[in-house]
Amino acid sequence: MKPKPWLYLMLLPLLALIPVRGTAIPTTAAEPTGYIALTFDDSPNGALTERLLDGLKERGAHATFFIIGEQIEGQESLLRRMAEEGHQVGNHTYTHRRLDNSGAVGTQELTRTETALREVLGGSGYWVRPPWGFASAETLREADAPLIYWTLDTEDWRVLNADRVAQSIIDGACSGDIVLLHDSYASSVDAALRAIDALSAKGYAFVTVEELFERMCVEPEVGCLYCRPDELRPVQ
Ligand SMILES: [Zn+2]
Repeated sequence: MKPKPWLYLMLLPLLALIPVRGTAIPTTAAEPTGYIALTFDDSPNGALTERLLDGLKERGAHATFFIIGEQIEGQESLLRRMAEEGHQVGNHTYTHRRLDNSGAVGTQELTRTETALREVLGGSGYWVRPPWGFASAETLREADAPLIYWTLDTEDWRVLNADRVAQSIIDGACSGDIVLLHDSYASSVDAALRAIDALSAKGYAFVTVEELFERMCVEPEVGCLYCRPDELRPVQ
């Protein structure tokens, strides 16, 4: 029997009425299992920071870098790269000074780094990570930005073993956590990238601290010291 083209033409409009089942409309990727913010203190650190940035870029992960002001000179391009690639840049004082007993000097340390960051990146109100986490009520009163502590301390500076540091993140990190690392150790850079691979496979997304606040719908407040967006650290 010969095909009858006119018959197909007549049936064509009816096809539109047949409900299509099982053909899922392509959507964006599934919602992540949770969000984790990796933070790197005592940054930037030349080739190590560069390798970390390469690794983060490959993985589509974002992180937060807390910058020591006196280390900026000569490494401005690394700071620009951080900002351009969607990472958060923060203030870790000018000479890595503890802020709980430093009075006006502590404030100057923060102001000097804020100024240096502005000169390279523009903007203002860079979030603060107090060195060693030491802050006083006075520090908080004087601060012009939110201050960020952590919920997971890898002690990477002491452990100096990529597998062990990675495992502490993989075993210990929950959604909403802020992880303390340093990009001054090769073992920490390796550990961070391994942890990202392992936890991404479980559906976790790696975001900046600022984005973590957004994801958890918490409005960050100037002069508060946060362990994570939903947990403040008491200060005396
Ligand atoms: Zn530090």
